[in-house]
Amino acid sequence: MNILFVASECAPFVKTGGLADVIGAVPKTLAEQGAKVRVMLPAYPALASVAQGGETVLSYDDLHGGPARLVAVSAEGLDLFLLDAPHLFDREGSIYLGPNGQDWHDNHLRYGALSQVAARVAIEGIGDWKPDLVNAHDWQAGLVPAYLKQHSGPTPPCVLTIHNIAFQGVFGPEVMGPLHLSGEHFNPEGFEYFGKVGFLKAGIAFADHISTVSPTYARELLMPEFGMGLEGILQARGHMLSGILNGIDLDIWNPEDDALLPATYSARSLKGKAVCKAELERRFAIAPNPDAPLFCVVSRLTSQKGLDLLLDCLPALVARGGRLAVLGSGQRDLEDGFIAAAQRYPGSVGTIIGYDEPLSHLMQAGSDAILIPSRFEPCGLTQLYGLRYGTLPVVARTGGLADTVIDANSAALAADCATGLQFAPITAAALDQAIDRACQLYGQPKIWAGMVRRAMRHPVGWDQSAEAYLALYQSLMPHRSE
Ligand code: ADP
Repeated sequence: MNILFVASECAPFVKTGGLADVIGAVPKTLAEQGAKVRVMLPAYPALASVAQGGETVLSYDDLHGGPARLVAVSAEGLDLFLLDAPHLFDREGSIYLGPNGQDWHDNHLRYGALSQVAARVAIEGIGDWKPDLVNAHDWQAGLVPAYLKQHSGPTPPCVLTIHNIAFQGVFGPEVMGPLHLSGEHFNPEGFEYFGKVGFLKAGIAFADHISTVSPTYARELLMPEFGMGLEGILQARGHMLSGILNGIDLDIWNPEDDALLPATYSARSLKGKAVCKAELERRFAIAPNPDAPLFCVVSRLTSQKGLDLLLDCLPALVARGGRLAVLGSGQRDLEDGFIAAAQRYPGSVGTIIGYDEPLSHLMQAGSDAILIPSRFEPCGLTQLYGLRYGTLPVVARTGGLADTVIDANSAALAADCATGLQFAPITAAALDQAIDRACQLYGQPKIWAGMVRRAMRHPVGWDQSAEAYLALYQSLMPHRSE
């Protein structure tokens, strides 16, 4: 089975969040199960050298304002189609935002072009390669199903995967003309979103199936609190909505063999974890304290992630002897809040503002627990890394966090199956109670060590989920329009 993935980011080349990890990892596992995936991405500057070594398979004299070509190339174990359109993608800095911190003014053209070229490849194929199915990811690829719908001939089935419904790609109705979108579908059943054009809405309206990244988020999306205005159309198309949990790339995230750590370790021998902890404490100027846990945060600092709640809990966390290392960047108020906390609690709280992939590995290895108080979380990956590295996740009971962490309540402790802590409702008071419970459990070393070992053995790879994707793809094959 040939699958075309269409996405805006892909690890290890270009990453702003979990989407990239998923796009970089799933094709490898699907390949082991017999499906061949090609990933279509924009040729951002980070991919320029990769694109140079590839073969031009499509050319455009003018794709929304300049020449463009599609390059086929293999790199890092992935087969890629790179859309090399310098006027759209050859820009330094953030892939989504201009220097003023606002979305690039032409994001509709940038990702409209990606979707248009992807639809063409889906319909015509490249040489003797033709996809049996397309999987479009998030709003940036949301127009792919719309373009396929507009095509009068046969098209392969298309799955839209929603990684975060908060990002929808909504633009004024004037983009319809330049993007060659048919006015026939500018209605609530189509891509119209309250008088505007919604890229994600288009994907939801026209995909043959909609998947998201955890079963709980799939249910939550149908509710106004989580659906962010799209719950109506999702309810209408609910029969074709499902949740498949994300996994993690066990080649990259493996404490037994992680070159980014000062020492490696396993569930059998945790000695190396103590070495990582000492190094983490040194990096964040945090004083050792064997009696209380070292918590960490590795996150975008945005209101989604609920880290303002953590700021409220900090005095009590520190009073209990707990320590906290924060790595993140994002909203100015949260960055300032954690910088101020580090100044207020020297030796107990350390903050590094920025994006640092190697340091994120050390944080997962050297901490005792990772705090994830998200207000909503489609799947979340950092709790999965935490499980793998024996760093117990303390999570809000929502989305994929609810699906992946087994709370250390008395029944789970008695049954020896707890792997972390959950809290609800998502308030500072409930987070504070969870932190308190974590501190109490940490004070019972046998119980804590048992949870750490169990967490490390919890399956978090892609095998099961890749099987679920494959089964989904196969179920759509007979629906192929002729
Ligand atoms: P989201 O995609 O909403 O940001 P996820 O938990 O799904 O959240 O994925 C976040 C990914 O980005 C993880 O791989 C995490 O380790 C990484 N990450 C987030 N912030 C940072 C940071 N400041 N430095 C390094 N990695 C980070």
